[in-house]
This record gives sequence, structure tokens and C-alpha cells, in this order.
Amino acid sequence: MKHIYACDSHNHSSCSPDGNQAPREMLARAQDLRLYAWTLTDHCECQQYRERYEERVRLAWKEMEKLEGGSLRVYRGIELGQPMQNLEAAESVTGQFAYDFVIGSLHNLQDKPDFYYMDAAAMDPEELHSLLDDYWQELLDMIAWGGFDSLGHLTYPLRYIQGEHGVRVDMARHTERIDDIFSALVKADKALEVNTSGLRQKLGETMPNLELLRRYRRSGGKLVTLGSDAHCAEDLGGGIDEGMELLKAAGFTEFTIYEKRAPKQLPLE
Ligand SMILES: [Zn+2]
Ligand SMILES: [Zn+2]
Repeated sequence: MKHIYACDSHNHSSCSPDGNQAPREMLARAQDLRLYAWTLTDHCECQQYRERYEERVRLAWKEMEKLEGGSLRVYRGIELGQPMQNLEAAESVTGQFAYDFVIGSLHNLQDKPDFYYMDAAAMDPEELHSLLDDYWQELLDMIAWGGFDSLGHLTYPLRYIQGEHGVRVDMARHTERIDDIFSALVKADKALEVNTSGLRQKLGETMPNLELLRRYRRSGGKLVTLGSDAHCAEDLGGGIDEGMELLKAAGFTEFTIYEKRAPKQLPLE
């Protein structure tokens, strides 16, 4: 890593259905990379909690309890997907285990498939805009609920709409809503995540991108976490150096990690 304080606060092990390496292998990679701090954040898709995640979440916690980082700071986290679609599950999970860090994410709208499975090329532009409107609204509801620390991969639908299907979306139409999200985050003392996975995918930029990071800062945003969203050891730390430079370009001097659900500011060095 090029930065002394490089931290990866969003990644997955085999405790996630789509993860590849065991937590201890992810830890070994984090140590090899000489990260300043590493937070493992396996999935809990709240709307599928009972049938698919309850057992996994318990297992992931047990595995994290065993991890010894030595000189590496190791934090225990979780990525809560769609908490608003099963608040009971979201609150039971975060109440049961003493996480350092909770990411709030939205991968699919209520009763709709993950954006990953949507054929954006076959949809008309109005349909796409209304899908995004619903996405912003559910994020605003999530912020009003407030049971998380950092908002994961804002603009996630673009990874598929623009990245995978090559359909350009006129984002000017959504600026106001996104600014509402930024103001709500600032008011609620929640962080915004810079998710660097888009840099190694067809999208070719972070979620959110530089322009939106600038807007967030202008809205008074100070808390920003950084995550590679790696699903294998090889991708761990991927794009974190670039993400730190991007934050500097957006005018930030510090970024955030979480310990025991409390933010800690670190220099972008
Ligand atoms: Zn996610
Ligand atoms: Zn993730």
C-alpha cells in the first residue's frame, strides 16, 4: 500500500455466500498488505435472514472472535443489506453481536431482484429513473432509522445499469435527491462509504464517484469510510490507495474507521 494509514473497511470471506476465502486467509492477506486496520464485513441480507443468513451470521461472528491480528488492527463488522425490509432481523443481529462497524446497504428494492439481475438494456429510461427514485427513497428511510454506521456503495444500481449494461443515466435529474441523502447523513452523524470495487469493474469509478464526494463534502460531510468490497483475498485492499487520493481531490484531509461503533478520524497519508 502507498499510504501508511490504508484501511479496508468493507470485504467478504467465505462466511458470505459469494465470498471465497476463510476469514483467517483474508486476515493473512491484510497482514501481507500491511494495512493499518482491517474490518471484515460479511453479508446479512435482512429480507432472507431466517432462511439464509441467521446461521451464517452466527458462524461469521464465531470466526471473527478467533482472529488475532498481531500488529494489525482487526475489527469486526457486518454489511446489513436491506435492513428496512426486515427491521426485526437487522436490530436483532446488531443487538446480539458487539460489532465494531455496521454498513447499511441496499442491493434490491422490496420484492424486486438484486440490481445485479436486472436487464437495464431492456428497460425504458423513465423506468430506470423511477427505479433510482425508489432506491434514493429507501436510503433516506434507512438513514432515518439510523441503525448503521456507514452508507454502503451509494449509486450501486449504476454498477449494473451503466457498468454491465452500458446504459447511460442522466444523473442531473437525481442530484437533488442525492443532496438530500448527504444532508440526512450529516444530520444523523452517519458516514458515507467510498466503495472502490467499481474501479476494478466495468463501471470504472468508485461508488460514489469524485463529483458526488465533492458534493458530500460541500454538504458538510466529514465521515467517510473506505472499502474494497473484495470477495476474495486477492482483491483485498484493491483501489484503497486510489480512493484515498480521490478523497484528497474532493477536499478531504481525513477519513474514518470505526471501533466499537464509534468513528475515529485518520489522516489521508
Ligand atoms: Zn453490498
Ligand atoms: Zn459488500
